[in-house]
Amino acid sequence: MSAQLDRLMMDYPLTLTHFFERSRRLFSKKTLATRIPGRPLFRHTYADFAERTTRLAGALRALGLRKGDRVATLAWNSHRHLEIYWAAPLVGCVLHTLNFRLSAQDLTYIVNHAEDAVIFADASVWPVLEAIRDKIPSVRRIVIMRDTPDATVPAGLDEYEALLAAATPVTGWPRLAETDAAGMCYTSGTTGSPKAVVYTHRAMFLHCLGEALTDSFGISEDDTILHIVPMFHANAWCLPFTGVMVGSTQIFAGPSPQPRDICELVQNERVTFTGAVPTVWIAVKDLCEKEGWNIASLRTIAIGGSAAPKHLQLAFKNQFGVVMSHAWGMTEMTPLGTIARLKSYMRGWSEDAQYDVRARVGYPSVGVDVRIVDDAGRELPWNATSMGELQVRGPWVVGAYYNNPESAARFTEDGWFRTGDVATIDPEGYVQITDRTKDLIKSGGEWISSVDLENMIMSHPKVLEAAVIAVPHPKWVERPLACVVPKPGARLDATEIIDHLRPQVAKWALPDDVEIIDAVPKTSVGKFDKKVLRERYKGWKARDA
Ligand code: AMP
Repeated sequence: MSAQLDRLMMDYPLTLTHFFERSRRLFSKKTLATRIPGRPLFRHTYADFAERTTRLAGALRALGLRKGDRVATLAWNSHRHLEIYWAAPLVGCVLHTLNFRLSAQDLTYIVNHAEDAVIFADASVWPVLEAIRDKIPSVRRIVIMRDTPDATVPAGLDEYEALLAAATPVTGWPRLAETDAAGMCYTSGTTGSPKAVVYTHRAMFLHCLGEALTDSFGISEDDTILHIVPMFHANAWCLPFTGVMVGSTQIFAGPSPQPRDICELVQNERVTFTGAVPTVWIAVKDLCEKEGWNIASLRTIAIGGSAAPKHLQLAFKNQFGVVMSHAWGMTEMTPLGTIARLKSYMRGWSEDAQYDVRARVGYPSVGVDVRIVDDAGRELPWNATSMGELQVRGPWVVGAYYNNPESAARFTEDGWFRTGDVATIDPEGYVQITDRTKDLIKSGGEWISSVDLENMIMSHPKVLEAAVIAVPHPKWVERPLACVVPKPGARLDATEIIDHLRPQVAKWALPDDVEIIDAVPKTSVGKFDKKVLRERYKGWKARDA
């Protein structure tokens, strides 16, 4: 008779509840802080954070929220935002972080698609919500958080601190399954409507462990983390969860952080770890050069979302003594995919050779499988030259978009997710992103859909054709340039196009300029050939540069 071999370990669910309770026991003296413009930092302890989170959980219950209900945020980075990050999933609700930079149209679509039940909004972004308030019927309550000293709460809405003060803290958490939904984020920028990724507790649990590994960002109790990545962008790369998991000191950048605020926080608080998109670091570099800020306390900076150029990374190393950790990921990947760590035997290489490696996006994190495939779906070799679509799979990679059957084509029959990025992989496993399959424009870390802009421009009665391309910009990395062909005989100028777009798109997504051209070049099958246009305008100088 053979003895039972399987199921002899406990069936312990991988949920955020374990992280929270462990952190509460172990790190109660550790501190959190939020920047409040014009005031000293607001500081409190992990013990305060835990107590307030149990109060908020009590408030969510009192609001009648049930398992699976969506709890949305529309807010800057703050300790309050962190409390919602935890309270919502711990009571079985789904944290839904809304991006207040989206157009009213996209935001309305997203709130309605997610069927958000309650929205916690910062007072400073309330006008964004006010504009769509009548179009989001699922939202039962709006709670305002005073994020600036002079913030006011519009009549008839709840105020966060009052809600907490009146709440009864919960004394225990529901037993959740690791496959329960913990959070959701919408991706933007691809053609069609924004799509939602729903993160399970398990995905986030494993992702936090992966992100904290020494061979990843090496996040530990010793760290002071500054949260700059917006908490609505892929959960601030999951760092607020990882920080609580390990008990790091955490600083939240507060409303509208500017490069000088970042430098001041890093210098004064002796920040050891932070992350942001390259545009932020271009601005910080400029300021450090001009004003001499000391940011040498940073043991590393996570940089990603767009490619981190070699010259920028070298400047941080040589001028400020800070080595960057270049990473690639996606909202669909919770978001970590690859990290450009050097292997030990590369440390003897010349600086130039080392930074050639660091300019790639790195090798895959544990937990992430990668492959590149050609147009026919055949896997390509890791030889640094074969270029194909990057596909991924793993326990924190999206398996299907929420309530979006038309996006099934993003997944292969054999269980991989098509990233939409085009890449090479070298024999050491380092991935290089060479292009995007779609012609999206990434400005300051935000996607701008060229197709959406083109469609709007082409709806102008005097326009024949329009193609929108990304042109380089010293601050935003990329900005949209519209190339417009007027209808025969029509007289058209740039202002007319911008005026036509202004009511339809967010301000930052408006093209920087409009070029009136004779014809949009076409490919052999009659599609717009943007490659030709990109080549033509590669030396384009931004007017505000
Ligand atoms: P998001 O979901 O907004 O984070 O955008 C994900 C996309 O950003 C990826 O599919 C890439 O196209 C791009 N991206 C992220 N990190 C990098 C990087 N390090 N280098 C180049 N592109 C990147």
